[in-house]
Order: sequence, then structure tokens, then C-alpha cells
Amino acid sequence: MRASQSRPRSASRPLPEPAPAERQRFRRVLLRWYDRNGRDLPWRQTDDPYHILVSEIMLQQTQVDRVLPKYHEWLGKYPSLGALAGAREEAAVKTWYPLGYNIRPRRLHAIARESVARFGGELPSDEDTLRSFKGIGPYTAGALMSFAFRKRAPILDTNVARVLFRVVIGRGDPKTHRMRKHLWKISGLMVPHKRAFDFNQAIMDFGALVCTARRPKCAACPMSGMCLAYPFDPRREGPSLE
Ligand code: SF4
Repeated sequence: MRASQSRPRSASRPLPEPAPAERQRFRRVLLRWYDRNGRDLPWRQTDDPYHILVSEIMLQQTQVDRVLPKYHEWLGKYPSLGALAGAREEAAVKTWYPLGYNIRPRRLHAIARESVARFGGELPSDEDTLRSFKGIGPYTAGALMSFAFRKRAPILDTNVARVLFRVVIGRGDPKTHRMRKHLWKISGLMVPHKRAFDFNQAIMDFGALVCTARRPKCAACPMSGMCLAYPFDPRREGPSLE
């Protein structure tokens, strides 16, 4: 983004933040792109917090096309947190196959049992209480706040971090603790008051379809006029956000 073109190297210098006019432009371009290109995914058609939790945990390590059939199978078998809590953990792990990273079904199962024990089989709608669950970190809590409870909450998964880093920061190491913290802040600044749900879905899709880790489609990108990484050069970017 042009007004923020200083590219500090020193950890003591402030990192760039988008000015209000730049945030507006980013939102406008992103939402226009999303209206034309956004994916029609089943977890975008629901505000059931459990269904959204299942999708978010599945998507943490797995591509959308592999998640889709398993998402439907899982909800057919465990349609509620209560149903999942009543199942054996090993049965849940078996249902999860072949998605892998089996800590994920174990986590889901533990969250289900905790929600039954503490909240009658529901998920609470405030972030601090969500974060008190073992297995619900800042990203999953933000996704639940935004997608299930429709609040103006930031998210920062790998796709979102990559897009914000490239457009606003441009070069350097996106993986440092300081940068991660800063990208959370930028994500919070960027989320609009109106269409917050669409905005967060849009930036995830944009990172998955346009501003991809290895071969971003810079030549056809609607953000190119404001992106500090344009044209993307992997030699200028630090460790890749994949
Ligand atoms: S111009 Fe390239 S690096 Fe910048 S947002 Fe678009 S695809 Fe990503």
C-alpha cells in the first residue's frame, strides 16, 4: 500500500499499518472480487457454531476438496456436540480417516465433552470463554466469533496472513512473533463493520485462489495497484507462509 511504503528492517521501528483510505480500498477491491469469485461452501450456509468448528478444524491442515466429503460424513454421524461427546474417542478418530493429523478429531471430541460438561452441549459466544477450551486457539476463536456469531472479529490463518503481509508489508520475514502479532492487528483494522463475515471469507478465498504461496497470480490480481509485494518475487520474501 503506497502510503505505507517505508520498509523498516529494525525491530525497533514501527511496522507499517494501512491508513483508513487504504483499508477502504482494500475492502472494496476484495469484496468486489469475492462477489464474483467466492466459493460456495457448505459451512458458509450455516451459523451453527459446531458445524463451523468442525469445518475450521478440518481445514487447518487439509485442502477444501478433501474436507468436503468428510465434513458431510462427520456431521451425518455426529450431528451435534452432544452426539460427538457421547461417542468413543477412538470411533471419532476412525471416522476422521483419512484426513490425518489425528490430534484434530481428539481435540474436537474433547471440546464436545467440555461443552456438554460446562455449557449443556453449546459453544459460548464470547471469545475469552471460547479460548478457555483446550484446543480452541486464537484463530479458531476468531473464526467462530466471525462465522458463527457474526461479530466483527479478526481472523489470521495462513492464507489471511500471507495476503496481508504481501499487500501491507511487502517483504521480509512474515513468520516472526512480532510480525505475527502485527498481522493480527492489521487483520483487526481491516475487518469492516458491514459485511465482516463476507470480508473474512473473502480474504481466505483470495489467499487460496489468487495470492497463493508459491505462484500468486499477480498479473491478474485486482490488488496489484496497492500491493507492496507486486510483482511477487520469492527471493524478496522470507520464509514462505503456506
Ligand atoms: S499482486 Fe501478487 S502478491 Fe500482491 S496480492 Fe496480488 S497476487 Fe498477492
